[in-house]
Amino acid sequence: MSNVLTQLADELASGSVRVIDLTQPLGPETPVIGLPPQFAPSPGVTFDEISRYDDHGPAWYWNTLTMGEHTGTHFDAPIHWITGRDLPDNACDTIPPSKLIGPACVIDKSRESEADHDYLLTPTCIEQWEAEHGRIPIGAWVLLRSDWNKRVGADSFINADDNGPHSPGPTKEAAELLAHDRKVLGFGTETIGTDAGQAGTFDPPFPNHTIMHGAGKFGLASLCNLDLLPPTGAIVIAAPLKLVGGSGSPLRVLALRLGQE
Ligand code: MN
Repeated sequence: MSNVLTQLADELASGSVRVIDLTQPLGPETPVIGLPPQFAPSPGVTFDEISRYDDHGPAWYWNTLTMGEHTGTHFDAPIHWITGRDLPDNACDTIPPSKLIGPACVIDKSRESEADHDYLLTPTCIEQWEAEHGRIPIGAWVLLRSDWNKRVGADSFINADDNGPHSPGPTKEAAELLAHDRKVLGFGTETIGTDAGQAGTFDPPFPNHTIMHGAGKFGLASLCNLDLLPPTGAIVIAAPLKLVGGSGSPLRVLALRLGQE
C-alpha cells in the first residue's frame, strides 16, 4: 500500500528526492571560534589513536576524539546560553526528537555578504523574502546563505582584523521576529557561529544567541551547500549527539530536496 513514507523511499531510490549534505568535514584543520582573551577558549579537534591493526589492537582501528561541543558543523541547544538555561527540554539529550526535523527556508544573502562582510539580516529582508516565497512556517529552520563556506582557509573563514571577526549574521530585531513571531525551530548559518562576527559589540552582545536560545530555539553553525537548496521545499534533518546535559554537538546535517537542480 502506498503512503507518504513508501513514496519517499521510492523517490529516494530513484533519485527524484536528493539528499544534500550540509556538513563540513570535521578534523584538526576545522577552524574554531575565537573569543576575547579573558574568556576560556574552545579546543579544536584532536584525534588520538587507540590502535590501528597493531599491538594495541591487532584487528581494529579507532581513535579518542577531543573537541569542544561547538566545533565545525554543529548544533546549539537552548542551554548553551544563559537566557535558555532554565527552559524545559533545553539540552541535547532532552530535546524532543520531533524537533530535529523541519522544513528549510533559505534566505540567499551571498552577494550582500560578499559586498559587506558585516552584512546584517533585518526584519525588512525577511519580509521581502516572504513576499516572494511565502510566510515562514511555524517550526521551520531559517538558513542564511552567505557562501561563507566557500572562503578558503581558516583566516579567510574567520576574517578577523584588529577589531575582531567580520562575518554576516542577523540583527536582534530579525532574531526576535523569527523566534517570537514566526516560531521557527532555529536559525542556521554557513559562518562559524549563528551571530555576526562583530556581534560581541552589539546590544545585547550576541543577540541571536540571546534571543533564540531564550525562546527555546536552536542554532546550526558552519553549514555548507546552502546554494544547493531551493528557497523553500527542502526538509532539514539535524540531530545532535544525545550528550547528557550537552550544550551542543557536532552533527551530520542532511537536507532532502526534490529534483535535479
Ligand atoms: Mn555554537
